[in-house]
Parts: sequence; C-alpha cells; structure tokens
Amino acid sequence: MKTNMQMNMQMKRQGQSLRTAARRHRLRQAAVIGLAVFLVLAGALPWGNLGADEGEGKETLALALLGKVIVIDAGHGGFDPGAIGAGGVQEKEVNLAVAGRVAALLRQVGAQVVETRTEDVALADTKREDIQRRVQIAEDAGAELFITVQANSIPQPQYRGAQVFYAAGSSEGKRLSESIQQSMAAVLQNTKRKAKAIENIYVVNKLAMPSIVVETGFLSNAEEESLLADEKYQMLVAYAIFLGIVGYYAEQPVASF
Ligand SMILES: [Zn+2]
Repeated sequence: MKTNMQMNMQMKRQGQSLRTAARRHRLRQAAVIGLAVFLVLAGALPWGNLGADEGEGKETLALALLGKVIVIDAGHGGFDPGAIGAGGVQEKEVNLAVAGRVAALLRQVGAQVVETRTEDVALADTKREDIQRRVQIAEDAGAELFITVQANSIPQPQYRGAQVFYAAGSSEGKRLSESIQQSMAAVLQNTKRKAKAIENIYVVNKLAMPSIVVETGFLSNAEEESLLADEKYQMLVAYAIFLGIVGYYAEQPVASF
C-alpha cells in the first residue's frame, strides 16, 4: 500500500501528460458525445429512418453540423404574444418551447447555436425594433442560417399543417426549407404542405444568409392548437426541424417516408 506522499508524487508526474491528453481529446470528445446523442435519438425514434448507409455515413451526418453558427429565433415574446388559439394557447410560448429544443439538439451535435431569446421577453419595446434586433443578432453572430420558429393562425379554423417558408430567389433557403418540410412530413405524419417562397417577410428578406420561417402548425385549428401545446408534440416538431437541418448540411434527406 502506498503512502499519501508517494501517491501525491505519482499523481504530479501523471498530471502533466493527463492534462495535455485531456486538452487534445476535448474537441474529439465533444464530437463523439454529439454523435452518440444523435445516434441514440435516431435509433430511439422509430420514424428516424436514416437515409445514409450504416457506420461512416451516420458519423458524417452528425459531424456535418460541427461548429456551424445557427440562429434559432423563437418568434414573438413578452408584450407580443403572437397568435392566440381559441383554447388560449399563445404562440410565443409554443415558439419558445420548440425553439429551445431545436437549439439543444443542434448543440448536442456540435453546432454553435445563438438563440434570440430563452425566456418570455420581447427584444425591444416596439414590434418594429424587436424584429430589427433579431436581424442584428444574426448579423452580429455571422450566422450561416437563420431559422425563426412561428405558429400560424388564419380566420378559417379547418386549415392545419406545418409549413416552411423561404425568401423568393434564395436557392439555399429553398433547399433548407424543403429538407425541413420533408422531415416534418415524415416525423409528424400530418402535413402534406410544401415548402413555399414568400416575398414580403422582413427578416428573411433582410438577411444575407439562408433565412427561413418554420410555421409549426395552425393555432387557429383546435386539434393542432392542443398538439402544439403538448410537450411531446413540441419535442417531435423540434426533432423534425433538427433532422431537416442535418439533412441540409449532409446534402441528403435524413428522414424519409
Ligand atoms: Zn408569429
């Protein structure tokens, strides 16, 4: 049995090389943890049908997001509730819940995520300044993607289904939107909507990087309102958005029908 002093000396000798090794492995470890989490998620969910081959293909998918700067914007907040469903569900709360989960999933595979808000606050006193602030955050971050999470509402209560919008003329925005639309169709199994170009949304037109609007569903539809308020459904929506982003970077669909 060693004395305390012998133990200390041995630990000191080992300390230097252990610290160097730890530093060397820290980045790789982050990537491996991200990959593990991704594979667990993909495997644990029966509809997470990976389009890639076994082994190396999966690793490529997960590593595709390493270091990518992505802004996840939870629409509305604070004084601005956004749409409010007939049952009282407020869009700002749904947006925050879904956006937070998307951000967490992206971080797990090594993306550098910037969230415009992580609590129920507006970013300015007026709606106009609030939107400008969100654009500014994306520009300051040097983001590669800007994804705003929203929920839809229209007077006709029968319409439903998640849908992604991109700036007209943006081929990368189109590709990202189509990837997310496809994974939402596969994961949620309740939307046949297609990704669509829009002309006049300030945020997506203002930003140079691919900028898209994910409408997670219609709060004006009673069934979808209760789904969007459900934590498990919020998780599914977030997972679908996440898979769509992975598919975009991997340049291949991750979720399929
Ligand atoms: Zn909104």
